[in-house]
Amino acid sequence: MLRAVRYKEADRILTLLTEDQGKITVKARGALRKGSKMAAASQDLCWAEFTLFGNRGKWTADEASTLEQFLGLREDLSQLALGAYFAELLDTVCPEEQLARPALQLALNALYALSRGIYTPEHVKAVFELRLLSLEGFQPEAEACGVCGKVDMDGPMFSPASGMVHCAGCAPGAEGPSVALDRESLAAMRHIIAAPPKKEFSFAIPDDSMERLGRAAELFARVQLDRSFYSLDYWKSVK
Ligand SMILES: [Zn+2]
Repeated sequence: MLRAVRYKEADRILTLLTEDQGKITVKARGALRKGSKMAAASQDLCWAEFTLFGNRGKWTADEASTLEQFLGLREDLSQLALGAYFAELLDTVCPEEQLARPALQLALNALYALSRGIYTPEHVKAVFELRLLSLEGFQPEAEACGVCGKVDMDGPMFSPASGMVHCAGCAPGAEGPSVALDRESLAAMRHIIAAPPKKEFSFAIPDDSMERLGRAAELFARVQLDRSFYSLDYWKSVK
């Protein structure tokens, strides 16, 4: 469940990311009725099974059951805020009614890792941003310097505007401001882009390398999507 707005007395209009239909808008009957299953299932970030009526563009749900609420997130304001940022990113990059199973799977894995504290929030966030954008058509070119083709780089720089990595020698000609990476953060970026599903989170790098990776990933999302995110600003104010 990505987003909800109130509709009439007890209903809500939900934006859902689904397995079979991609991102859809659904009128959820009784979603505001206290204690109803629909109310539980239509909470922010909830993973649930909805029974839908109607057809393309005109969906209604009056039955739902919750599969995973990610309770860990709901007990921690800062984690819930980060989850809200993930939902806002998904809502931005996933087009309506187009299959987005890999993005959905990534989101579930990210929320699970976050709610169970398997990785730090900074780690989950950097992976989620880079991998989601890669899945949805914005894959960075991190294998080699975008100008000279060098693979083994000292002082690699990442250009969020072009999505390219440059060696120290070529970086001054890059589009827009660049973010300084190091060997570990570049290796992590390559891993996040290329790893098989579910393995994208599996790496460990020093804190300062994670900071570089985090800066690169966040700026990449902001520049490529050409917008800022209220939920991201909010997360930064409460983390
Ligand atoms: Zn170069």
